[in-house]
Amino acid sequence: MNRVDGILSSFAARAKSAQFVLLAATAVAIAALVSAAVPVPAIAAGWCLIVIAALAGNPPRAESAEQDIPARPEATIAGELDDPPRFLDEIDLAIYLLAADGTVIFQNRSAADTFGKFPLGAHISARMRAPGVLDIIRDTLANDRVNQIEYSERLPSERVYLVRSAPVADTAGPVFMLVLRDVSEARRIDRMRSDFVANASHELRTPLASLRGYIETLQGPAKHDAKAQERFLPIMLDQATRMSRLVDDLMSLSRLEARAHLPPDQKVALNDLLGHVRDSLLPLAEELEVSIHLFMPEDKVMVNGDKDELVEVFENLIENACKYGSEGGKVEVYLKALPPSGAEVSVVDHGPGIPAEHVPRLTERFYRVSVADSRSKKGTGLGLAIVKHILTRHKARLAVKSEVGQGTTFTVRF
Ligand code: ADP
Repeated sequence: MNRVDGILSSFAARAKSAQFVLLAATAVAIAALVSAAVPVPAIAAGWCLIVIAALAGNPPRAESAEQDIPARPEATIAGELDDPPRFLDEIDLAIYLLAADGTVIFQNRSAADTFGKFPLGAHISARMRAPGVLDIIRDTLANDRVNQIEYSERLPSERVYLVRSAPVADTAGPVFMLVLRDVSEARRIDRMRSDFVANASHELRTPLASLRGYIETLQGPAKHDAKAQERFLPIMLDQATRMSRLVDDLMSLSRLEARAHLPPDQKVALNDLLGHVRDSLLPLAEELEVSIHLFMPEDKVMVNGDKDELVEVFENLIENACKYGSEGGKVEVYLKALPPSGAEVSVVDHGPGIPAEHVPRLTERFYRVSVADSRSKKGTGLGLAIVKHILTRHKARLAVKSEVGQGTTFTVRF
């Protein structure tokens, strides 16, 4: 629309809206002329004044879509949008819309659920106090630029957010969007992965360094020393065995991870399986002077499972009970059917127990209450992590109850 057309159409619109006043003024003027009660120049001047006043008044509300966009800056000053974009409620990210002065004009449901209801019309700094976040908001408001930053909160629990601020395109007035994506879980997994690689390398490096040391000694100073060879070779074998145990456990974990989503498809009788595990651990139990007692019902207790994996679970739990609870002298294993199709196995020892602060972390990879104690007992720190993985695949749960000085109970519930 050019300028002249604009002025003409504006005049047309005003004339249309003032048509009643114009008609009335013209009718009164004609009546005055006919009655000849008022002089003609006065009638003409009066009519002109009324027409000018009617046309100069406020233009009517335009009907065209082009001019019908709500005036957002005014709405934002009031702290609310005329037409809040409710569809943003369906997005699983915390979203705030901001006016050019940084006041919040809209928050979606996820933002309200995560950070609490925000008083519309208040400045975003009432909620976001981190200087980094305020800086990117300031820059976006001033320069219409898209910005992103990582921001973490420590309370009530540690959470990490990817915060993005951006101008919103296609709006009448200046509107800006602040989006917070919770990336805590992804960061936790990243950290676990890098910790795991660091731990695994460290665990392998220790026996490797010791092996190298012995090999160099045997090649050099102890080359012809039969006594030293006799002493060193069993230690070397021990270290090599420790390394292969670690590699076996790592492989086992990665195999389990690869098929975590495949449910096991065998029927396993837990009575037979526990009997087999007990028999295989008898030599170790004898060595540690521990007796293993099984308490099982006559009837077979069946579960859906993978036999080899369940053997690994109960070998780990009963072996741990014998190793770490050897002071108690006996380990008890209780099997119970949980109708209609569940089962429960408890492995009880009467050893020193585990201090409460360690219990929640026992199934983390390489977590040990005492590293030296675990190493001296040929532990890798991966046993319970493997147990947890297998049980997750079996949709079973592991519970740990321990009292210092009394002993520990590991319970598996199918
Ligand atoms: P490890 O190879 O060291 O035995 P696990 O993952 O099997 O690794 O166990 C982790 C840690 O949990 C052990 O190092 C030990 O400190 C503790 N633990 C496990 N079972 C028992 C138990 N029955 N009594 C006391 N401590 C235990």
